Amino acid sequence: MVRNFFIGGNWKMNGSLAEAKKLVEMLNGFEVPANTEVVVAPPALYIDRVHQGLKKEIKVAAQNAYLKASGAYTGEISPQMLKDMGLEWVVLGHSERREYFHESDELVGKKTAFALEAGLSVIACIGEKLEEREANITNDVVARQMKAIAAEIKDWTNVVVAYEPVWAIGTGKVASPEQAQDVHQFLREWLAENVSAKAAEETRILYGGSVNGGNCKTLGAKPDIDGFLVGGASLKPEFGEIILSRQ
Ligand code: PEP
Repeated sequence: MVRNFFIGGNWKMNGSLAEAKKLVEMLNGFEVPANTEVVVAPPALYIDRVHQGLKKEIKVAAQNAYLKASGAYTGEISPQMLKDMGLEWVVLGHSERREYFHESDELVGKKTAFALEAGLSVIACIGEKLEEREANITNDVVARQMKAIAAEIKDWTNVVVAYEPVWAIGTGKVASPEQAQDVHQFLREWLAENVSAKAAEETRILYGGSVNGGNCKTLGAKPDIDGFLVGGASLKPEFGEIILSRQ
């Protein structure tokens, strides 16, 4: 089967209302090929405006969601609320959430299951830190992170995995196409062995970490790289080139 290419844009905690409006204009001007899915994740406060303004080919994700539907969880947003606002996607387990907000593998697994049950699709982020890569335990780390998700979910149909080496995020140090392909291939084999042949064949595995207009084509040409999760460059005109990187 052909896995549709997938481009996610993570705006993180950047911008203002005026800048969000400009980004919507920019995005609405981009060509979105039929074989490419595009999803952008604005800061929570701007989600609705962005969602209302974007053309229908570009979907909107939240950058996080909690694992309860409602209640005394000050500051949190539930997957049910995101659905209520017409959203289809949520990013979970981003390394910045793992690092600064102490999200564990187990929590990310549980949040993934809860969001899927609520009817959202999930961009589930995993990836090793620099010291883990240097200690040659990259595969162990990503396998551990995948296992925590697999422990909570059976059906991977609505999950997109984003492999984002932490040392490459926001640093300008992109993984080489070979480094990324090696991990993506390992992840696909892991899915085949631990979930199912179907999940291995159908699950999109994105690369994230300093993707830009200059490196997207060589990365995107690798057989197990099914798209990108893009941070910094998703706020710039070059995001349009990244959307076209498989053309
Ligand atoms: C990200 O935030 O997921 C990311 C990959 O950031 P950047 O593209 O800026 O490295």
